[in-house]
Amino acid sequence: MSNILVTRSSMPGYEEYCEEIKGLWESHWLTNMGVKHKQLQAELQTFLDVPHVVLYTNGHLALENVLAAMNLPKGGEVITSPFTFASTTHAIVRNGLQPVFCDINKQDYTIDVSKIESLITDKTCAIVPVHVYGNVCNIEEIDRIAKKYGLRVIYDAAHAFGVTYKGVSTACFGDASMFSFHATKVFNTIEGGAVCFSDDSLVQTLNDMKNFGIRGPETVEFVGGNAKMNEFQAAMGICNLRHLDEEIAKRKAIVEHYRARLSGNEGIILCQAQPDVKTNYAYFPVVFEPSLFGATRNEVFDRLAENGIGARKYFYPLTNTFDCFHGAYDVNQTPVALHISKRVLTLPLYADLSSADVDRICDVILNCRK
Ligand SMILES: *Cc1c(COP(=O)(O)O)cnc(C)c1O
Repeated sequence: MSNILVTRSSMPGYEEYCEEIKGLWESHWLTNMGVKHKQLQAELQTFLDVPHVVLYTNGHLALENVLAAMNLPKGGEVITSPFTFASTTHAIVRNGLQPVFCDINKQDYTIDVSKIESLITDKTCAIVPVHVYGNVCNIEEIDRIAKKYGLRVIYDAAHAFGVTYKGVSTACFGDASMFSFHATKVFNTIEGGAVCFSDDSLVQTLNDMKNFGIRGPETVEFVGGNAKMNEFQAAMGICNLRHLDEEIAKRKAIVEHYRARLSGNEGIILCQAQPDVKTNYAYFPVVFEPSLFGATRNEVFDRLAENGIGARKYFYPLTNTFDCFHGAYDVNQTPVALHISKRVLTLPLYADLSSADVDRICDVILNCRK
Protein backbone atom coordinates (compact mmCIF):
# COMPACT_ATOMS: atom_id res chain seq x y z
CA MET A 1 0.00 0.00 0.00
CA SER A 2 1.32 3.42 -0.87
CA ASN A 3 2.12 6.01 1.74
CA ILE A 4 -0.29 8.83 2.51
CA LEU A 5 1.34 12.18 3.13
CA VAL A 6 -0.20 14.75 5.45
CA THR A 7 -0.51 17.20 2.58
CA ARG A 8 0.05 17.43 -1.15
CA SER A 9 0.41 20.73 -2.97
CA SER A 10 -2.35 21.81 -5.34
CA MET A 11 -1.03 22.28 -8.86
CA PRO A 12 -2.67 23.33 -12.11
CA GLY A 13 -2.28 21.16 -15.20
CA TYR A 14 1.24 21.22 -16.62
CA GLU A 15 0.03 22.73 -19.92
CA GLU A 16 -1.97 25.39 -18.13
CA TYR A 17 1.09 26.57 -16.19
CA CYS A 18 3.31 26.48 -19.31
CA GLU A 19 0.77 28.64 -21.14
CA GLU A 20 0.77 31.10 -18.23
CA ILE A 21 4.56 31.53 -18.21
CA LYS A 22 5.10 31.54 -22.01
CA GLY A 23 5.14 35.33 -22.17
CA LEU A 24 8.05 35.45 -19.76
CA TRP A 25 10.27 33.96 -22.50
CA GLU A 26 9.34 36.88 -24.71
CA SER A 27 9.58 39.68 -22.14
CA HIS A 28 12.54 38.33 -20.11
CA TRP A 29 10.89 40.14 -17.18
CA LEU A 30 11.13 37.66 -14.31
CA THR A 31 10.52 39.70 -11.18
CA ASN A 32 10.16 43.28 -9.83
CA MET A 33 6.40 43.68 -10.10
CA GLY A 34 5.90 42.42 -13.64
CA VAL A 35 2.68 41.68 -15.51
CA LYS A 36 1.91 38.41 -13.70
CA HIS A 37 2.47 40.09 -10.34
CA LYS A 38 0.10 42.91 -11.32
CA GLN A 39 -2.51 40.49 -12.60
CA LEU A 40 -2.46 38.27 -9.51
CA GLN A 41 -2.61 41.30 -7.24
CA ALA A 42 -5.69 42.63 -9.04
CA GLU A 43 -7.38 39.22 -9.04
CA LEU A 44 -6.76 38.79 -5.32
CA GLN A 45 -8.14 42.25 -4.53
CA THR A 46 -11.36 41.15 -6.23
CA PHE A 47 -11.38 37.62 -4.82
CA LEU A 48 -10.61 38.71 -1.26
CA ASP A 49 -12.82 41.78 -1.60
CA VAL A 50 -10.28 44.09 0.05
CA PRO A 51 -8.99 47.53 -1.05
CA HIS A 52 -5.26 46.69 -0.98
CA VAL A 53 -3.15 43.57 -1.51
CA VAL A 54 0.65 43.71 -1.37
CA LEU A 55 2.26 40.49 -2.59
CA TYR A 56 5.29 38.89 -0.96
CA THR A 57 7.75 36.10 -1.66
CA ASN A 58 6.44 34.34 1.46
CA GLY A 59 3.97 34.86 4.25
CA HIS A 60 6.53 35.23 7.01
CA LEU A 61 8.24 38.28 5.47
CA ALA A 62 4.78 39.72 4.81
CA LEU A 63 4.04 39.48 8.53
CA GLU A 64 7.45 40.85 9.53
CA ASN A 65 7.01 43.80 7.19
CA VAL A 66 3.47 44.69 8.16
CA LEU A 67 4.45 44.65 11.84
CA ALA A 68 7.37 46.95 11.01
CA ALA A 69 5.05 49.22 9.01
CA MET A 70 2.86 49.77 12.09
CA ASN A 71 5.68 51.80 13.73
CA LEU A 72 5.24 50.09 17.06
CA PRO A 73 7.54 51.25 19.87
CA LYS A 74 10.72 49.13 20.33
CA GLY A 75 10.24 46.70 23.19
CA GLY A 76 6.47 47.15 22.98
CA GLU A 77 4.32 44.22 24.08
CA VAL A 78 2.29 42.29 21.53
CA ILE A 79 -0.46 39.96 22.71
CA THR A 80 -0.54 36.77 20.67
CA SER A 81 -1.20 33.05 20.89
CA PRO A 82 1.48 30.34 21.31
CA PHE A 83 -0.74 27.82 19.49
CA THR A 84 0.63 28.66 16.06
CA PHE A 85 3.46 28.14 13.63
CA ALA A 86 6.91 29.53 14.55
CA SER A 87 6.44 32.36 12.07
CA THR A 88 3.88 34.30 14.15
CA THR A 89 6.05 34.58 17.25
CA HIS A 90 9.30 35.01 15.31
CA ALA A 91 7.87 37.92 13.31
CA ILE A 92 7.10 39.71 16.58
CA VAL A 93 10.50 38.98 18.15
CA ARG A 94 12.45 39.83 14.99
CA ASN A 95 10.82 43.27 15.08
CA GLY A 96 12.28 43.94 18.53
CA LEU A 97 8.86 43.50 20.12
CA GLN A 98 7.94 41.44 23.17
CA PRO A 99 5.41 38.64 22.68
CA VAL A 100 2.91 38.27 25.52
CA PHE A 101 1.18 34.91 25.27
CA CYS A 102 -2.55 34.67 25.68
CA ASP A 103 -4.32 31.33 26.02
CA ILE A 104 -6.66 29.86 23.41
CA ASN A 105 -10.28 28.81 23.79
CA LYS A 106 -11.38 25.17 23.85
CA GLN A 107 -13.92 25.51 21.05
CA ASP A 108 -11.95 26.63 18.02
CA TYR A 109 -8.39 27.02 19.40
CA THR A 110 -8.18 30.73 18.50
CA ILE A 111 -7.11 33.34 21.09
CA ASP A 112 -9.31 33.38 24.22
CA VAL A 113 -10.70 36.91 24.08
CA SER A 114 -11.85 36.76 27.71
CA LYS A 115 -8.18 36.60 28.76
CA ILE A 116 -6.78 39.43 26.60
CA GLU A 117 -7.64 42.44 28.77
CA SER A 118 -5.87 41.10 31.88
CA LEU A 119 -2.63 40.93 29.85
CA ILE A 120 -2.72 44.58 28.76
CA THR A 121 -0.10 46.86 30.34
CA ASP A 122 1.03 50.39 29.48
CA LYS A 123 3.57 48.80 27.09
CA THR A 124 0.99 46.85 25.07
CA CYS A 125 0.86 48.17 21.52
CA ALA A 126 -0.73 45.46 19.37
CA ILE A 127 -2.58 42.16 19.18
CA VAL A 128 -1.55 39.46 16.69
CA PRO A 129 -4.31 36.83 16.71
CA VAL A 130 -4.21 33.74 14.49
CA HIS A 131 -7.14 32.29 12.55
CA VAL A 132 -5.86 28.76 13.29
CA TYR A 133 -6.96 25.97 10.94
CA GLY A 134 -9.08 28.56 9.11
CA ASN A 135 -11.22 29.09 12.24
CA VAL A 136 -12.08 32.76 12.55
CA CYS A 137 -11.08 34.57 15.76
CA ASN A 138 -13.70 36.49 17.73
CA ILE A 139 -13.08 39.59 15.63
CA GLU A 140 -15.87 41.66 17.21
CA GLU A 141 -14.45 41.32 20.71
CA ILE A 142 -10.87 41.85 19.51
CA ASP A 143 -12.05 44.99 17.74
CA ARG A 144 -13.74 46.28 20.89
CA ILE A 145 -10.64 45.68 23.04
CA ALA A 146 -8.31 47.24 20.44
CA LYS A 147 -10.45 50.39 20.23
CA LYS A 148 -10.76 50.69 24.00
CA TYR A 149 -6.98 50.51 24.57
CA GLY A 150 -5.75 52.04 21.29
CA LEU A 151 -4.04 48.87 20.04
CA ARG A 152 -3.20 47.80 16.49
CA VAL A 153 -4.53 44.45 15.31
CA ILE A 154 -2.61 42.41 12.73
CA TYR A 155 -4.16 39.05 11.93
CA ASP A 156 -2.08 36.02 11.04
CA ALA A 157 -4.57 34.75 8.45
CA ALA A 158 -2.11 32.24 6.96
CA HIS A 159 -4.74 29.50 7.30
CA ALA A 160 -7.77 31.56 6.37
CA PHE A 161 -7.52 32.25 2.65
CA GLY A 162 -10.99 32.45 1.14
CA VAL A 163 -12.73 32.26 4.53
CA THR A 164 -15.59 34.66 5.23
CA TYR A 165 -17.38 35.65 8.44
CA LYS A 166 -20.94 36.98 8.06
CA GLY A 167 -20.14 37.27 4.37
CA VAL A 168 -17.09 39.49 4.99
CA SER A 169 -13.66 38.32 3.82
CA THR A 170 -11.05 37.59 6.50
CA ALA A 171 -8.79 39.97 4.53
CA CYS A 172 -10.83 42.90 5.88
CA PHE A 173 -10.43 42.56 9.65
CA GLY A 174 -8.16 44.55 11.96
CA ASP A 175 -5.51 46.97 10.68
CA ALA A 176 -4.11 44.31 8.33
CA SER A 177 -4.13 40.58 7.64
CA MET A 178 -1.29 38.36 6.43
CA PHE A 179 -1.93 35.38 4.16
CA SER A 180 0.56 32.64 3.34
CA PHE A 181 0.63 31.09 -0.12
CA HIS A 182 3.12 28.39 0.87
CA ALA A 183 2.99 25.11 -1.05
CA THR A 184 1.16 23.43 1.83
CA LYS A 185 -1.63 26.00 2.11
CA VAL A 186 -5.11 25.84 0.54
CA PHE A 187 -4.01 28.35 -2.12
CA ASN A 188 -0.35 28.40 -3.12
CA THR A 189 2.08 30.37 -5.25
CA ILE A 190 4.81 27.74 -4.52
CA GLU A 191 6.08 30.06 -1.78
CA GLY A 192 4.32 33.35 -1.34
CA GLY A 193 2.21 35.59 0.80
CA ALA A 194 0.33 38.86 1.00
CA VAL A 195 -0.67 41.65 3.31
CA CYS A 196 -4.27 42.88 2.94
CA PHE A 197 -5.66 46.11 4.39
CA SER A 198 -7.72 49.21 3.64
CA ASP A 199 -5.44 52.07 4.83
CA ASP A 200 -4.17 53.80 1.65
CA SER A 201 -1.08 55.15 3.41
CA LEU A 202 0.29 51.63 3.99
CA VAL A 203 0.60 50.78 0.29
CA GLN A 204 3.75 52.78 -0.43
CA THR A 205 5.41 51.77 2.84
CA LEU A 206 4.95 48.05 2.26
CA ASN A 207 5.94 48.25 -1.41
CA ASP A 208 9.14 50.08 -0.39
CA MET A 209 9.89 47.69 2.47
CA LYS A 210 9.85 44.65 0.22
CA ASN A 211 12.19 46.32 -2.28
CA PHE A 212 15.15 47.71 -0.29
CA GLY A 213 13.35 50.95 0.55
CA ILE A 214 13.83 52.07 -3.06
CA ARG A 215 11.20 54.68 -3.90
CA GLY A 216 12.49 55.81 -7.29
CA PRO A 217 15.53 55.29 -9.58
CA GLU A 218 17.61 57.67 -7.48
CA THR A 219 15.79 57.67 -4.15
CA VAL A 220 16.16 55.23 -1.28
CA GLU A 221 13.80 56.34 1.46
CA PHE A 222 14.78 53.90 4.18
CA VAL A 223 16.54 50.62 4.96
CA GLY A 224 14.25 48.01 3.45
CA GLY A 225 14.78 44.33 2.70
CA ASN A 226 13.93 42.17 -0.29
CA ALA A 227 10.73 40.16 -0.20
CA LYS A 228 9.26 40.54 -3.69
CA MET A 229 7.09 37.87 -5.30
CA ASN A 230 8.51 36.80 -8.67
CA GLU A 231 6.67 36.19 -11.94
CA PHE A 232 6.76 32.38 -11.76
CA GLN A 233 5.18 32.47 -8.31
CA ALA A 234 2.50 34.90 -9.49
CA ALA A 235 1.78 32.73 -12.56
CA MET A 236 1.28 29.70 -10.28
CA GLY A 237 -1.13 31.79 -8.21
CA ILE A 238 -3.11 32.90 -11.28
CA CYS A 239 -3.53 29.26 -12.30
CA ASN A 240 -4.35 27.93 -8.83
CA LEU A 241 -6.92 30.68 -8.22
CA ARG A 242 -8.91 29.43 -11.25
CA HIS A 243 -9.37 26.06 -9.54
CA LEU A 244 -9.82 27.22 -5.96
CA ASP A 245 -13.59 26.68 -5.70
CA GLU A 246 -13.22 23.12 -6.94
CA GLU A 247 -10.32 22.51 -4.51
CA ILE A 248 -12.34 23.73 -1.56
CA ALA A 249 -15.37 21.66 -2.59
CA LYS A 250 -13.18 18.54 -2.69
CA ARG A 251 -11.71 19.34 0.71
CA LYS A 252 -15.22 19.81 2.09
CA ALA A 253 -16.23 16.33 0.94
CA ILE A 254 -13.13 14.82 2.57
CA VAL A 255 -13.76 16.63 5.84
CA GLU A 256 -17.39 15.46 5.85
CA HIS A 257 -16.21 11.90 5.33
CA TYR A 258 -13.75 12.21 8.24
CA ARG A 259 -16.50 13.66 10.44
CA ALA A 260 -18.91 10.86 9.60
CA ARG A 261 -16.31 8.25 10.52
CA LEU A 262 -14.81 9.86 13.62
CA SER A 263 -17.54 11.85 15.37
CA GLY A 264 -19.40 10.20 18.23
CA ASN A 265 -16.37 8.17 19.27
CA GLU A 266 -15.51 8.63 22.92
CA GLY A 267 -12.29 10.53 23.49
CA ILE A 268 -12.19 11.98 19.97
CA ILE A 269 -12.88 15.71 19.90
CA LEU A 270 -13.51 17.44 16.58
CA CYS A 271 -13.75 21.19 15.97
CA GLN A 272 -17.36 22.19 15.42
CA ALA A 273 -18.28 24.31 12.40
CA GLN A 274 -18.38 27.97 13.44
CA PRO A 275 -21.67 29.84 13.02
CA ASP A 276 -21.67 32.50 10.25
CA VAL A 277 -18.34 31.23 8.87
CA LYS A 278 -17.78 29.94 5.37
CA THR A 279 -14.64 27.90 5.88
CA ASN A 280 -11.89 26.74 3.50
CA TYR A 281 -11.35 23.30 5.10
CA ALA A 282 -7.65 24.06 5.50
CA TYR A 283 -6.91 21.42 8.16
CA PHE A 284 -8.65 18.61 9.99
CA PRO A 285 -7.53 18.71 13.63
CA VAL A 286 -8.48 15.85 15.96
CA VAL A 287 -7.94 15.98 19.72
CA PHE A 288 -7.42 12.64 21.49
CA GLU A 289 -8.40 12.58 25.16
CA PRO A 290 -6.36 9.52 26.26
CA SER A 291 -8.39 8.70 29.39
CA LEU A 292 -11.53 8.32 27.26
CA PHE A 293 -10.05 7.17 23.96
CA GLY A 294 -7.65 4.63 25.42
CA ALA A 295 -4.61 5.79 23.47
CA THR A 296 -2.49 8.92 23.54
CA ARG A 297 -1.98 11.30 20.62
CA ASN A 298 1.61 10.07 20.30
CA GLU A 299 0.46 6.46 20.16
CA VAL A 300 -2.00 7.31 17.39
CA PHE A 301 0.71 9.27 15.56
CA ASP A 302 3.12 6.32 15.77
CA ARG A 303 0.48 3.81 14.69
CA LEU A 304 -0.38 5.95 11.66
CA ALA A 305 3.33 6.22 10.81
CA GLU A 306 3.73 2.43 11.04
CA ASN A 307 0.93 2.19 8.50
CA GLY A 308 2.57 4.65 6.12
CA ILE A 309 0.28 7.53 7.05
CA GLY A 310 1.63 10.96 7.83
CA ALA A 311 -0.20 13.03 10.41
CA ARG A 312 1.14 16.20 11.96
CA LYS A 313 1.48 17.34 15.59
CA TYR A 314 0.23 20.77 14.60
CA PHE A 315 0.83 22.76 16.78
CA TYR A 316 3.33 21.05 19.02
CA PRO A 317 5.46 22.26 20.67
CA LEU A 318 3.90 25.60 21.60
CA THR A 319 5.96 28.58 20.46
CA ASN A 320 6.36 29.79 24.07
CA THR A 321 8.36 26.62 24.84
CA PHE A 322 10.80 26.86 21.92
CA ASP A 323 14.46 26.29 22.86
CA CYS A 324 15.43 29.59 21.22
CA PHE A 325 13.58 31.48 23.98
CA HIS A 326 15.57 29.76 26.78
CA GLY A 327 12.63 29.46 29.15
CA ALA A 328 11.69 33.14 28.96
CA TYR A 329 7.97 32.33 28.98
CA ASP A 330 5.86 30.40 31.45
CA VAL A 331 3.88 27.76 29.58
CA ASN A 332 1.52 27.38 32.56
CA GLN A 333 0.08 30.78 31.64
CA THR A 334 -1.50 29.13 28.59
CA PRO A 335 -2.95 25.91 30.06
CA VAL A 336 -5.56 25.28 27.36
CA ALA A 337 -2.99 25.70 24.59
CA LEU A 338 -0.70 23.29 26.47
CA HIS A 339 -3.52 20.76 26.88
CA ILE A 340 -4.51 20.88 23.21
CA SER A 341 -0.97 20.87 21.84
CA LYS A 342 -0.25 17.61 23.71
CA ARG A 343 -3.36 15.94 22.31
CA VAL A 344 -3.91 17.26 18.78
CA LEU A 345 -3.11 15.75 15.40
CA THR A 346 -3.99 17.16 12.00
CA LEU A 347 -4.91 14.36 9.63
CA PRO A 348 -3.96 14.09 5.93
CA LEU A 349 -6.04 16.56 3.90
CA TYR A 350 -5.65 17.63 0.29
CA ALA A 351 -8.01 17.95 -2.63
CA ASP A 352 -7.33 14.58 -4.26
CA LEU A 353 -7.15 12.45 -1.10
CA SER A 354 -9.40 9.50 -1.98
CA SER A 355 -12.29 8.41 0.19
CA ALA A 356 -10.71 4.94 0.36
CA ASP A 357 -7.66 6.58 1.92
CA VAL A 358 -9.85 8.44 4.43
CA ASP A 359 -11.35 5.07 5.42
CA ARG A 360 -7.90 3.53 5.72
CA ILE A 361 -6.77 6.41 7.99
CA CYS A 362 -9.90 6.22 10.16
CA ASP A 363 -9.60 2.44 10.50
CA VAL A 364 -6.06 2.76 11.84
CA ILE A 365 -7.15 5.50 14.27
CA LEU A 366 -10.18 3.63 15.58
CA ASN A 367 -8.13 0.46 16.00
CA CYS A 368 -5.91 2.33 18.48
CA ARG A 369 -8.73 2.16 21.05
CA LYS A 370 -7.94 -0.24 23.85
C1 LIG B 1 2.42 29.02 6.94
C2 LIG B 1 2.27 29.92 8.12
C3 LIG B 1 2.97 31.13 8.23
C4 LIG B 1 4.14 31.53 7.37
O1 LIG B 1 3.95 31.51 6.04
P1 LIG B 1 5.13 31.18 5.00
O2 LIG B 1 4.47 31.54 3.71
O3 LIG B 1 5.46 29.74 5.12
O4 LIG B 1 6.28 32.07 5.30
C5 LIG B 1 2.65 31.98 9.28
N1 LIG B 1 1.73 31.66 10.19
C6 LIG B 1 1.05 30.49 10.13
C7 LIG B 1 0.02 30.20 11.17
C8 LIG B 1 1.33 29.58 9.11
O5 LIG B 1 0.68 28.41 9.09
